[in-house]
Amino acid sequence: MPDGLESESRKLLRRLRDTMAEDAAGQARLDKITHLTADSMGTEVCSIYLFRDDNTLELCATEGLKAEAVHKTRMKLGEGLVGRVARTGRIINAADAPSFAGFRYMPETGEEIYSSFLGIPIQRLGEKLGVLVVQSRQAREFTSDEVYALEVVAMVLAEMAELGAFVGEGAALAARHTEPRLLRGTMGQEGAAEGHVWLHEPRVVVTNLVADDPAREKERLDEAVQSLQVSVDDLLASAQDPEQRAVLEAYRMFASSKGWLRRMEEDIERGLSAESAVEKQQSLARARMSQATDAYLRERLQDLDDLSNRLLRLLTGQGNETGAEMPPDPILVARNIGPGELLDYGRSLKGIVLEEGSVGSHAAIVARALAIPLVIHAGGITTEALNGDHIMVDGDQGVVHLRPDETVVGAFRDKMAMQTKALERYASIRETACVTACGSRIHLNMNAGLMADLPSLESSGAEGVGLFRTELQFLVRNQMPKRTELAALYARVLDAAHGKRVNFRTLDIGSDKVLPYMKPNDEPNPALGWRAIRVGLDRPGVMRMQLQALLRAAQGRPLTVMFPFIAQLDEFYAARAEMDKTIARERRLGHPVPEKIEIGAMLETPSLAYAPRRFFEEVDFLSIGGNDLKQFFYAADRENERVRRRYDTLNCCFLTFVEEIVTRCAQTDTPLSFCGEDAGRPIEALCLAAIGLRTLSMRPASIGPVKHLMMRVDLADLKAVIDAARDKGAQSARPAVIEYLRGLD
Ligand code: PEP
Ligand code: MG
Repeated sequence: MPDGLESESRKLLRRLRDTMAEDAAGQARLDKITHLTADSMGTEVCSIYLFRDDNTLELCATEGLKAEAVHKTRMKLGEGLVGRVARTGRIINAADAPSFAGFRYMPETGEEIYSSFLGIPIQRLGEKLGVLVVQSRQAREFTSDEVYALEVVAMVLAEMAELGAFVGEGAALAARHTEPRLLRGTMGQEGAAEGHVWLHEPRVVVTNLVADDPAREKERLDEAVQSLQVSVDDLLASAQDPEQRAVLEAYRMFASSKGWLRRMEEDIERGLSAESAVEKQQSLARARMSQATDAYLRERLQDLDDLSNRLLRLLTGQGNETGAEMPPDPILVARNIGPGELLDYGRSLKGIVLEEGSVGSHAAIVARALAIPLVIHAGGITTEALNGDHIMVDGDQGVVHLRPDETVVGAFRDKMAMQTKALERYASIRETACVTACGSRIHLNMNAGLMADLPSLESSGAEGVGLFRTELQFLVRNQMPKRTELAALYARVLDAAHGKRVNFRTLDIGSDKVLPYMKPNDEPNPALGWRAIRVGLDRPGVMRMQLQALLRAAQGRPLTVMFPFIAQLDEFYAARAEMDKTIARERRLGHPVPEKIEIGAMLETPSLAYAPRRFFEEVDFLSIGGNDLKQFFYAADRENERVRRRYDTLNCCFLTFVEEIVTRCAQTDTPLSFCGEDAGRPIEALCLAAIGLRTLSMRPASIGPVKHLMMRVDLADLKAVIDAARDKGAQSARPAVIEYLRGLD
């Protein structure tokens, strides 16, 4: 970089800093910045366009274009060159702008006389705020140093906006973090919650953007980088597990990446403080992350983001522990969170909002177990929310109201009051057996998997645990649990059940459930791949260890075990043979074996519905894993948002299929239950009962609503409604069922 330019850019930054320090109104500051920038870059025009709403940019200040166009000229995202810079987040550097594809001329601005155009996105940590533009008459491309200088100005603008520098009388920008915001995400766990934001990782606020003494700043950066490297080395030294070490090695490599450090030093040379240099590189990495489709690259950029956060904390002295007290009714807001960290917060949280995450993620599993409303994919929440902000989370709709206005608060509270009333109603029938209006006894069990679930066995009125997902214990750990740990854990589950039946399902991993300490398999179709019992039989070590832990936990008490994802006879026989061998071994070792053992299978693939009669005779019980069964029946991935809700459980084809399974089980007196998510949806549960299921297993929170509805319905009448819909050739029985239920009110 030429010396002259370096000092120019530093001079410009210093002038910007002085502008910031002056006690001026927001608009005056913006005007001054455009003037300073045009002056020091030697261009005729400098303009600032800011977002008015998610889709509209507005000319907010200019030097060189017509003053009357300010706050009048607007463009849509993607419209013209400015709109394009905003949409793509990429720079446009055009010598002859009017001939550039997508150029759109704004007559009111008088810009027709300017040939060259340089547009830089104004963004902060991945959040788009606007576009900074310089234009000049002379048709020339801007040099890389000029581009760089303008990039730095854009960054400073973004930081100043975050600090509220443009707010005030005649404000160009509304104050940030004060307006109500509605964020739409995806439902992770149902339920509504009102409370106050508690940021999992409070944002670091950088106040000294510009620095005069580059040597001192480089020293500060250097010290911080060294401490960072030491802390990563410490992490590495304490990591036992080879997989974990491999991840940390990559992390360490990044922490000493020459390219990264050099770029930050260059930024300091040009006048940034050490912390704003870190933040600038972090912003660039985030912008790349939002575009990266390659999983490996995304992960590395995520590492870089994490390292940048650590560096910023070291440089600013702002730790995770800000000393702030957790607000009342905390709602956790995070980009993402690990299951262990979530369990640490436990039931103190009223709700959770994640910027990333997925329906099947471990955090979502824990949130479900704790019955905490969860919204995932709430884009922008971590940049928008401040600690203590009022927030309402609608887990049913996947919607978040941040700093809601009074109308929203009123409507939301009405909804919550209705839910509370319903909960009181359900509590009053907790001890009542579920008997339908026609006298059929329906057994309602709960699904579980974590110790955190166990108190629900009492509070929900569940008759037992119809599905204990043992993999959750494996998923929330950083390393493979030991047999003794598992035995102790299962014993606690049986103790808490006080003799109620618990169906332990053996490890069901693969597909969406990937153990953090096992090498993931690169499979083209993981849901159809090496998962569940297939892994158990091919690598029997873990299954044997688990079966042994279960036998030891029982200490002679009755034990029920079921194998997941059995697709054909021999898989069940092979798995059961493992159990027989383990029992024989336990006997030989002199350990007590359960007085009664029942071994069942989960019916999750259509193939098993057509297994030979002898299978139905020999299996002790069957449980329909409706989540998987439905995904294979319709060939619609349960994890794919685009298709997972496309096919109705009450589609007559699916009901007929499930009814066939009921019939086959009835012929051989094979006990049958249904434990997919649909069992917990009241209307679906009713229809399953109407076609003959007598045992359902669901999330604890669903037992009340299911029982309440079930007790009011005559199953024979409902069956007649379903049959009539089928006879009529309806695609789904739902409309007819809903009409019938309306008639009950
Ligand atoms: C199912 O597939 O319905 C089931 C209960 O198992 P999981 O959801 O754990 O795959
Ligand atoms: Mg399943």
